[in-house]
Amino acid sequence: MSTGTDLPAPASALAVGAHPDDTEFGCGGTLAKWAAAGCVVHHLVCTDGSKGTWDPGQDLAALVALRQDEQRDAAKALGATGEVVFLDHVDGELSSGLDVRAEVALWIRRLRPEVVLGHDPWKRYRLHPDHRHAGFLTVDGLVAARDPHFFPDQGVSHHRPSALLLFEADEPDHVERLAEPDVVRKLAALEAHRSQMRSTMHVDVGSPAADDQLAAFHQRVRDRLAEHGSRAGAPAGEAFKAILDL
Ligand SMILES: [Zn+2]
Repeated sequence: MSTGTDLPAPASALAVGAHPDDTEFGCGGTLAKWAAAGCVVHHLVCTDGSKGTWDPGQDLAALVALRQDEQRDAAKALGATGEVVFLDHVDGELSSGLDVRAEVALWIRRLRPEVVLGHDPWKRYRLHPDHRHAGFLTVDGLVAARDPHFFPDQGVSHHRPSALLLFEADEPDHVERLAEPDVVRKLAALEAHRSQMRSTMHVDVGSPAADDQLAAFHQRVRDRLAEHGSRAGAPAGEAFKAILDL
């Protein structure tokens, strides 16, 4: 399988994730690179992120509000200037039925992105159901958005993006190469998800080990970017399954 590289920076892009932070992990460097080139970058988060804590006593309404603020801060850290939309489905209970598919299709029609990015729903042995469902919602929402006879009552005309990039891809065939400023923005955007420092980034904020733990997290992200970039002979990159015939 040959590997493609570097789409022309689109005028607009929509990244769809199951939870706050998923798109930063999956495609944050690419979004940062495109934003710096003038692309209007939008985020669509399917769930409310209310399972994102290890604290049994956590006030969940406060967590949801905090995670929305964090997602907006992450978008800013990437340089994104578009919308940050929350569908607010309960974390862990996302479904990919017709009703939620219609919501995703409506946002694709409203925001009219040139490129859509999302979880690969066909990634094998993926455990988290929200990631599977968010992937199917991205693919199925795009198929519905592009055709005028799907959900004709939405009151917004259909829209056909020119490319779909699936991150965490089961069979990656495309690499967006990243320069150091893109990597730095991706790391800053990940760190904007402050409530996830312990559970996701394994950093015990306030402990003497926190600096070393954060450095180790940065290294894990950089190692992954190096591995993806090497598929295209680049020092850093993000790999995707690219679907360019939409
Ligand atoms: Zn997630």
